[in-house]
Amino acid sequence: MNLFYTITSDPAFFLFSVFLLSLMVGSFLNVVIYRLPIMLKREWKSDCIDFLSEQLEPAEFNKELDGCSKQAQETFNLSIPRSRCPSCGHQITALENIPVFSWLVLRGKCSQCQSGISIRYPIIELSSALLSVLVAYYLGVQWFTLAALFLTWALIVLSMIDFDTQLLPDSITLPFLWLGLLISLLAISDISLQDSVIGAMAGYLSLWSVYQLFKLITGKEGMGYGDFKLLAVLGAWLGWQALPLILFLSALVGAIVGISLILFMGRDKSIPIPFGPYLASAGFISLLWGEPIKQFYFNISGL
Ligand SMILES: [Zn+2]
Repeated sequence: MNLFYTITSDPAFFLFSVFLLSLMVGSFLNVVIYRLPIMLKREWKSDCIDFLSEQLEPAEFNKELDGCSKQAQETFNLSIPRSRCPSCGHQITALENIPVFSWLVLRGKCSQCQSGISIRYPIIELSSALLSVLVAYYLGVQWFTLAALFLTWALIVLSMIDFDTQLLPDSITLPFLWLGLLISLLAISDISLQDSVIGAMAGYLSLWSVYQLFKLITGKEGMGYGDFKLLAVLGAWLGWQALPLILFLSALVGAIVGISLILFMGRDKSIPIPFGPYLASAGFISLLWGEPIKQFYFNISGL
């Protein structure tokens, strides 16, 4: 009896393995959420410098260039440098990097300088573990479950990055768009390739049209292009039939959260609320419960 067989034949053991694995993945998601926007901004800055080298005065340009080349010399990606305490620079040891557990043992403080470590880190680790267990529980032992776990992790990262920076990086949305189409092509999911391709196009175009219409009427930009790409991802993974439900759920959750933030937290109406987290949550709900929700809807509407 091999390990793979043990994991897949015992449901409780399967769920427990997914929990442990996703807890560790959650720790990596924290790194991506924190570092990817910084990596993107550095890249954009260096592109701008290239462009401005033709536009700026030499003295001004050299000053900008100095700052940038210093940054470019330090390697900064998802694995380098090792994680450090932002206050004192203490390098996080392997023992201090155990998901959730280390945070609890350290009681949310750096072991050297006692400055606070955000409770966000263990929350993201625990949420990714719990959401992954839900995926494994509802979808069961099949190849699509593995793909759905990757999609779930991507949706967590996209939601948090959008929440922090109002960005939905192409380096995540585009690969997951191709992956969604590939999964239909290889018949790993129940979605036909045709539904998947139409889903990707309709997902992008529907929000794009809303955006253009909103801009025409109000002169403001209500969403970003990242939102269109994220809905294209969900259309590719779940088929075009899932799009009305996703749009309805994200608008509903968005309206409830948005209005409560303004009413109860006194949030300024003019601060934009990112739409990505709502699209991602609605996509996750449709991934697991799309069919029962649709059936419920058809039952009460008598169709
Ligand atoms: Zn410290």
